[in-house]
This record gives sequence, structure tokens and C-alpha cells, in this order.
Amino acid sequence: MRFASTRNPSLDVGFEEAVFRGLAPDGGLYHPKSHPDLRPLFEQLEPAAFDETAARLIEALFPELPQPEELARQAFEFAPALTEPVKSPDGEISILELFHGPSCAFKDFGASFLATVMERFLHARNERAVILTATSGDTGSAVAQAFHRKENIDVVVLYPAGRVSPLQEKQLTTLGDNIVALEVDGSFDDCQRMVKEAFVDPELTSRITLSSANSINLGRLLPQSFYYVWAWAQVRARSGERAAAPDRLHFCVPSGNFGNLTAGVLAWKWGLPVDGFIAATNRNDVVPEYLKSGLFSPRPSVATYSNAMDVGNPSNFERLEAIFDRDWRKMSSVISEEVVSDEQTLETIRRVYEKTGAILDPHTAVGYLASERFLAAHRGARIISLATAHPGKFVEVVERTIGVRPELPPALSRLLELPKHSIPVANTLAALSTFLLDRYG
Ligand SMILES: *Cc1c(COP(=O)(O)O)cnc(C)c1O
Repeated sequence: MRFASTRNPSLDVGFEEAVFRGLAPDGGLYHPKSHPDLRPLFEQLEPAAFDETAARLIEALFPELPQPEELARQAFEFAPALTEPVKSPDGEISILELFHGPSCAFKDFGASFLATVMERFLHARNERAVILTATSGDTGSAVAQAFHRKENIDVVVLYPAGRVSPLQEKQLTTLGDNIVALEVDGSFDDCQRMVKEAFVDPELTSRITLSSANSINLGRLLPQSFYYVWAWAQVRARSGERAAAPDRLHFCVPSGNFGNLTAGVLAWKWGLPVDGFIAATNRNDVVPEYLKSGLFSPRPSVATYSNAMDVGNPSNFERLEAIFDRDWRKMSSVISEEVVSDEQTLETIRRVYEKTGAILDPHTAVGYLASERFLAAHRGARIISLATAHPGKFVEVVERTIGVRPELPPALSRLLELPKHSIPVANTLAALSTFLLDRYG
């Protein structure tokens, strides 16, 4: 597979180069230059352990990577889980739990794969690199955990001061070793802009090997397609429709920067027979607006309870545009949209808990309500609704809503005892450059 900038298809590179550059030199995002036809693989796929399915996909997508089975085992020591569907007269919803990794959020899949391949590539080249990453909460903690104590790699995480949950802050600021947390006086969009500017700054890039680990990085984006394929194979096996594809299947994806959704749409583009996707957002609804009107108007993000989705200018929109030839009607024929308010998010957490005892985190709740609305409008559909974080990561909101404190996974509760180490910085490229050159230049 070759990868080209979303802004200039003539600049193409291989996977290793795309992984280390993060962003293309013209400021665009790397994107598959052509799409493989994986239908034969999907047709033969047996429902299997997640790392086995992942190994098959690694083999098919990156034939240049040696030992795909071992790579998949190393990267995915944790796995997704698909719940039994909740059936209603309208159809059914299953939940794809993506929070069983070290930071208890779906970003562990992409981060861990990226960390594993980067360590291998750097080892082979006998080089060092600095990973620069902006986070609105979960990316940074997944990246920090995935890269902690990897050889030859330092990680600098930028996060918006006061805009991540206390637990997320602990996840970013307590690891130490090769992980540094910069506390930015600004919003997530500021953090993201600073990182983007650093990558095209000639002085910085000539003195430090900088690399990204955001959802803009292909090494994070592409492995996120694996669990769509894995879940599809599980559903096909469960429904007894061995020969055919499961009918009327949609994935519902709580979205912010749209990396998760883009990965699912890529699997569809490679031939995964699903009927469509539902982009579920909070009030930061730039993409839903585009899907309805064809008008894309990025704007400053607003703070919500599902704060990992508070993105006003989603970077992966460029990739979605590339997949659908910049035709919003094509895009909206495959991707439906639902927008969920904070009040509706809390109401959903409360209602689902009272009805079933299941506790949803605010991001998952946005997706769940979107799934229910979609079912009501499309009777007989089957939905796989992605659960993107463990409810224990958002104790404050959840406890206030249902009066019950969700249990924190032990891997996370341990962090609350540890002291925070962060470095405050202004929301400018100059502040970031000074820090980076002092420390690694
Ligand atoms: C990052 C994140 C999202 C949004 O994912 P994108 O790929 O940015 O659209 C949703 N839920 C949680 C818990 C997240 O951490």
C-alpha cells in the first residue's frame, strides 16, 4: 500500500515513512493512494480471537511487516468484546466494548499498534524519535501508556489545562520516564494547532526527529479498522448467515476527530459488507451539519460531558472527503448523523442504567442514543454501537447522574495516588519550540 497527502496525490510514501512523518509535508494527511480489495479475505474469515483477525489484516495491508502474528500478539494483549444484542421491536443493538486496554479507551488499539511498529522500525534503523501529540483527554493517555518505556522514543503530550477529567490528567502526568506532559493554557484546538505547526517548522524538524501519534497518524488510524472487521465476523457467525453477509448492519461511532469512524469507513471501502455508519456527535456537530447540508464550517469547540469529542475542526474530515471524492451526497449515503445534547446524554445514562443495570460512559451514551434513534427510523436494522471508554473513567458525571459510583479499573485507580508532574506552557508555537529545543535539540 502507498500513501499520499489528501492535498496532493502525487507525493506518495510507504507505510514506514508515513508513520514517522505523521503529517504530509504540504500539511495534508496521509491517506491510502488506492484501496485494496479485501473481499476474498472477508468472505473466508472465521470468527477468531482478536489478535488472529488482526494478524490476517496486517498481512494483507502491510506485507512488508515481518512476523504479523507476533506483531499482533504484542500490540493487542487486550481485545474488544461484543455484547449479546438487546432486541426490541425496532431491531437490535449490540455494544462493541473497546475499553479493555491499558487506558480503558478505544484509543489503546491504535496507540499500541503504533508504538509496537515504531519501536520495531527505530530499532532496525538504530535511531531515536520524539512523539508530539495533542489530546482532548483520551488520546494522550492511550499514547502515554502505549509508549511508556519503549526504547528509543520520547513522548511529549499537550493537553488543555482544566479541560480534561481529573483521572485523565493523572493518566497523562504520572507515568514519568520517557513521557512528558505539557499543560497548555488554551483549548484542545490550540494544542492541535501547535502540534501541526511544529511539524512544518523548519528549525524544529531539522534538529529533532518529530513524529505524531494523534489520530492523524496512519499507524494509529489503520489498525482501528481491525475491530470493525472482527465484530462483523462475530455477528456473521452468531446470526448463522455463514455464506452471506449480515443484512442491514450499521456501526454507530461516537465521534470527535473522526479517526475511529474513518477507520470503519476504510474497512467498508476495502469491501467489508456493511450497510452504513452513524456518526454520533455531541453539540460539536460540524460534520453532522455537513452531512445534512454539504456545508463544512469548522468553528471553536464547546465543552461537553463527552469531552474527548469536543472538536470544532475534525482533522480526519479531509480523509472522509478523499474517500467520497469530495461529494457530500455520496458521503451522506453511507454515513448518517445524529447529534446528542448534554441533557440527552445524562438522560440516556440514567435510563439505560435503570432499565438494564448497564453503566455507560458519556461518550458511549451519545452513541447509544444515536443508535436508538436510528433504529426508530429504520425498523429491522442491526446496530453495533461502539463503547469508546470505560464508565469508570468519568466517575464524576456518571455518579452525579445515577447516584452510583462506577468501579474504577484497578489499572486506573492506582494512578490517583501518584503525584502529578506537568509543565505549564502558553498556547503558542514559540513556547512549544523553546521547550522542545531545550530538552531534545
Ligand atoms: C477520542 C474519543 C472519541 C472520539 O474518537 P475520534 O476518533 O476522535 O472521533 C470518542 N470517545 C472517546 C472515549 C474518546 O476517547
